[in-house]
Amino acid sequence: VSQRDHASGHLPGAGPDKRWINELERGRVPGPRMPQHSRVPAHCGPSTASVHAGTYADPTTGAVTSPIFQSTTFRFDQRSYEAFETGTTRDVAIYSRYGNPSQWTVQEKVATLEGAESSLVFASGMSAIYTTLLTLTNNGGHIVSALDVYGGTYALLRDDMHQLGREVTLVDPTDIDSIRAAIQPNTQVLFFESLTNPLLKAVPLAALGELSNAEQLLLLVDNTFLGPTQCRPLRHGADIVIHSATKYLSGHSDVIAGVASGSRKYVDRIWAQMLKVGGQLDPLSCFLLERGLKTLDLRVRTAAESAMHIVRFLESRQDVLAVYHPLATGYAYPWFFETASGAGAMVSFRLQGGDRRALAFMEALRIPIAATSLGGVESLVSLPFNTSHSLMTQQQRKEMGIEPGLVRFSVGIEQREDLIQDIAEALDATQGVS
Ligand SMILES: *Cc1c(COP(=O)(O)O)cnc(C)c1O
Repeated sequence: VSQRDHASGHLPGAGPDKRWINELERGRVPGPRMPQHSRVPAHCGPSTASVHAGTYADPTTGAVTSPIFQSTTFRFDQRSYEAFETGTTRDVAIYSRYGNPSQWTVQEKVATLEGAESSLVFASGMSAIYTTLLTLTNNGGHIVSALDVYGGTYALLRDDMHQLGREVTLVDPTDIDSIRAAIQPNTQVLFFESLTNPLLKAVPLAALGELSNAEQLLLLVDNTFLGPTQCRPLRHGADIVIHSATKYLSGHSDVIAGVASGSRKYVDRIWAQMLKVGGQLDPLSCFLLERGLKTLDLRVRTAAESAMHIVRFLESRQDVLAVYHPLATGYAYPWFFETASGAGAMVSFRLQGGDRRALAFMEALRIPIAATSLGGVESLVSLPFNTSHSLMTQQQRKEMGIEPGLVRFSVGIEQREDLIQDIAEALDATQGVS
C-alpha cells in the first residue's frame, strides 16, 4: 500500500487507489429519477422489477407504459436553476445529453436488477466501455484485462488506451495468480468479462472481487454474456458492471445500446465524462430497450433451459468433439456457480470434420440464423474462424483454444424440441463433410 501511495504522487489530482474518487463529499442519492418513475419494494424478484421498476406513471393520461420523451430540451424552472447552482444537473431534466426521463426509466430498471445505486445508458456497449475506462483511469495508469476479451474491447485496449497514456496488460482471465502478478504500482482498473467469447471460460469473480478490494483497485465487469438475472457482479466485489444492452437486455435484435451500473460516486463521474464524449441513448431506443427489459427474466430463463438441453443433446453425439458451456461435462471452471445463478444461453461446440463441416452444418440449419451478435429471441449461429477470429492464423486460433470446427450458438426462445431436431438433422445431413 505504501508503494501505491507513493505512486499516486505521480498522477496529479488522482492516485490509483479508490480515495481519489471518494473525495467527492456531496450527499449521494439513488437515481436520477422523478416522482413519476415507479419503484418496487426491495424484496421483489427480477421479473417484478423488470416489469415495474422505473416505468413512468404518467399522471395526466394514466398510460400503463412509459411515454417517449422525444425532446432535446426542457423548460427551465426553479429546480433547473438550483441544479446549475449546486452542480446537480444530472438529477434534473434540462437537456437530453445530460439526462432525459426516458433514459431514467431504463436506468432505474437496470439499476434495480443489478442492485446498483445508479445506472447510465449509452448508445452502444462500446460507448459504455470506452467512457467508463476513460473515466476510471488517468494518464500514467494501468489496466489489467483478458487476452480474449471481446474484439471491440481488445482493439480499444490495444490501440487507443496506449495513445491515451494508459498501460495495458492482458492475461489469462481464468488464472487469478496471473492476474495478481500483472498488478503494478500504477494499476487502477481490473477489467474482465464474466464469461468469455467464444469458449465460455468463467473468470474467478469472487476472487477478483477480493483481490481488487485488497489492492484498492476498481473492478469493472462486462456481464453481457449472462445478464443481471443470472449474475450480479456488484454483489461479488465489482465496482462497475457493464452490459452491451444490444444483447440480452434488449433481447430483440432491434436496438444498439449499452449500460454501466454501480454506486453514484462512480456513475456520476462516468456521466460527467459522457457529457464530453457524447454517446447517451436516444429516447426512442430507450423505449425499445425498456420494452425488451420487461421480459428479460422470462427470455433468459427459457433460453438458458433450452441451452442446457442442447448441451446434453450435443454430448450424446459421436461427431461433436467438445462442448463449451458451464453445464457441460468436465467444465474446467468450477467457481462459475459461486457467483452465477444460471449458466446462460450461449453454447459453443466443436464438430468433427473441421471448419468445412462447421460451415456446412451452419448452412444446413433451418431455424437459427447465421449472424453475429447474441441474446435475441431468435437463435443465432456463427463460426469464430470466419468472423470474430478471422484475422488470426489457424495456429494463433489454436493457441487461444479455438480449434477447427468450432461453432458458437446463441440459443433463442424458439421451441426447444424444434431447435434440437433442427440441430440433429443438420448434423446428420453433414456427417461426411470434412
Ligand atoms: C457486443 C458486445 C460488446 C459491444 O457492444 P455493442 O453494443 O455492440 O457496442 C461488448 N462486450 C461484449 C461481451 C459483447 O458481446
